[in-house]
Formats: sequence, C-alpha cells, structure tokens
Amino acid sequence: MQHAIEAKGLVKTYGKGAKAVRALSGVGFAVPRGTVFGLLGPNGAGKSTTTKIFTTLSTPDSGTAVVAGLDVAKEPGRVRHAIGYVPQKPCFDPTATGRENLTLQGHVYGMSGSDIRTRGDQLLERFGLADAANRITKTWSGGMQRKLDVALALMHRPQVLFLDEPTTGLDPEARADMWAEISGVTQADGVTVLLTTHYLEEADQLADRLVIIDRGQVVAEGTPEELKGGLEGDAVQVELADPSQQEAAHRAVAAVRGVGEITADGARLHARVGNGAATLPGLLAALDGAGVAPASLTVARPSLDDVYLRHAGRSFHSADRAGLAGATQTEVEVSTAARRTASGRQQ
Ligand code: ADP
Repeated sequence: MQHAIEAKGLVKTYGKGAKAVRALSGVGFAVPRGTVFGLLGPNGAGKSTTTKIFTTLSTPDSGTAVVAGLDVAKEPGRVRHAIGYVPQKPCFDPTATGRENLTLQGHVYGMSGSDIRTRGDQLLERFGLADAANRITKTWSGGMQRKLDVALALMHRPQVLFLDEPTTGLDPEARADMWAEISGVTQADGVTVLLTTHYLEEADQLADRLVIIDRGQVVAEGTPEELKGGLEGDAVQVELADPSQQEAAHRAVAAVRGVGEITADGARLHARVGNGAATLPGLLAALDGAGVAPASLTVARPSLDDVYLRHAGRSFHSADRAGLAGATQTEVEVSTAARRTASGRQQ
C-alpha cells in the first residue's frame, strides 16, 4: 500500500556549537491513506519540528519526508498544494468575516470565483459556521475560530491535513466538538490527517494509529489498543503525603509479590501489578509496615500514559513540564538574541 505520509530517518538540529538543540534524532513512520495518525509526545519532543518539515517550513539535516507521493525536499511547491496545514497559532484574519477569510484563501490557491463560493458555503455549513459567516471573526468564540482554521486549511481540497495541537486552549466542550470534526474529515472526505498532540486522551480517542515521540525519537508505534494491550496487568499509582518518604515507599512496594516496573516521580510512585484488586491489601500493609502514609492509592487499566512511562522511563506529565521549562528557556535565549540583533550588536 502506498502511504499518504512517510518519514524516514529525519534528523534536525537547531543552532550550532554549545547552543545546538537536537530536535529530531532519526524519526520514521508511515501513515496509511484516509486515516488519522497521531504524533503524541510531551512538550519539546519534536512534534512541531516534524510537522514543519512535512509542510515545507523547515528542512531536515538528513532523512526523507514524502507526502501524497511527493518528496518534500524535491517538490515543495506541489506539496503545498497537496496539503492543508493548521498551525498552533490562529491563521485567520480577525478583522475579516468568516466568508472573507475563506474567499481570500481560495484566491491564494488560485481557485475560480464560483468554486470559491461553492466550497466556502459547503465548509461554512459543514463546520456549523454558516450563521456567523458574515460576522467579523474576532467576535467569534475560540471553538468557532479553531474550526475556521481547519476550514481554511481544507478550502483547496488537500489530500493530507496537518493539525498541530488543534485543541490546545479550547474548553472541554469545544474540544469534544473539534474531535468530532477531525474524525469527520477522514470519514467524509477521505483526507489523511496527521495530528500532533500532547493530550493522551486526544490521541487515544482520535488516532487510528500513533507514534509516541520522546526527545526526538519514536519510542512506540501502533494503534492505541495495541499499545495499551502490550502492557500486562494494571497500573498502580501511590501518591505520598510526604515526598521525603519516597525511598522508604519504593523499598516497601518493591518487596510486595507481583509488583514490578516501579518508577518514582516526585511524590508519586508508579508500578505495574498482575491483578490490581488482589494486590492492593498487600501494598497497603507493606506501606503501613514501613511507616509510609499514602495520600492516595489508585489502580487503573493501562493507559497511554503507562505506555509512555514504559518506553520513556518517566511519566508523561513530568516530561511535559520539563519540556515546557526547556522551551521557555529557549524562547528567552532567542528573544535575547533578537534584541541584540535589533540593537545592532553582534552575538
Ligand atoms: P514539540 O512540538 O513536541 O513541543 P518542538 O518540535 O517544538 O517540540 O521542539 C523540539 C525541540 O527543539 C525542543 O527542545 C525545542 O526547544 C527545540 N526548538 C524548536 N524550535 C526551535 C528553534 N526555532 N530554535 C531552537 N530550538 C528550537
């Protein structure tokens, strides 16, 4: 089967020397046509960099990216017509109406006047935006504005749609609404969707297949069910009332029969057990015997968080926080550099 999207050995480094950041270290995956493919990873994992390469906004140091049968490095112009791209930041004109935004987009892609009207009406109807079509878009709700971004990306009927963190900042209701729209894109139009997200439940709900990406590398690939099914037993999480008891808690938990894969993350211990319900009394007794007071103890079926924990060796949420801290630092460095350049000083 020919894939709609294929990445092979993508490597990308930002900057040089001591400040160089290796964003991708050999990322590879293949996306079957007409499916939603998830690129799931914490902040700083390399998701946007991968998307930027596929959308011709960035070039890799090495490796190949093929979309709709076109090599991105060799035919960037044709690639831009074959794809739609919804970046993280809004891309509509807030001072124009919804219809004006779609019309402008149609002109950018060289569509005829009648096609622009037909396609624009179709998309406004389809995304539930027809009633607001003639209102200035800055007066629209966040959910409506995000849908307009997707409609704009679909205006020229692309074969492949790239969505970079499409629901970040949306309230739960607008997020659920957007999930339904994204599923509709593959079902109604046969468009292949590559979706980047750092929401585990979003990947779980939407993706037919996904890769988990961590520190610029693919650490796991499969359907959400395959990935979760690869983990045996239940996930146990112990939250400690006193984080300084982490070592004592670790020792106590490790001594209980049937408990494995213990990892510590601040005041939390994660472990895997064959049968959660059966192991719980022994766990509580062991913690009590070691003088450790848990604030809470939970047992759950495996989630994508557990899959990430198994492959990356840290919890998704702690990685997400660490990635965010790194990004802030990078942004500070970049803005300092920009100020220096603006004031005429060389670095
Ligand atoms: P994600 O989308 O998963 O949050 P990114 O692809 O944005 O990750 O970033 C991957 C890594 O590359 C991070 O360490 C990030 O700080 C760094 N990075 C991204 N863009 C730039 C840039 N323009 N200059 C320097 N470093 C960057």
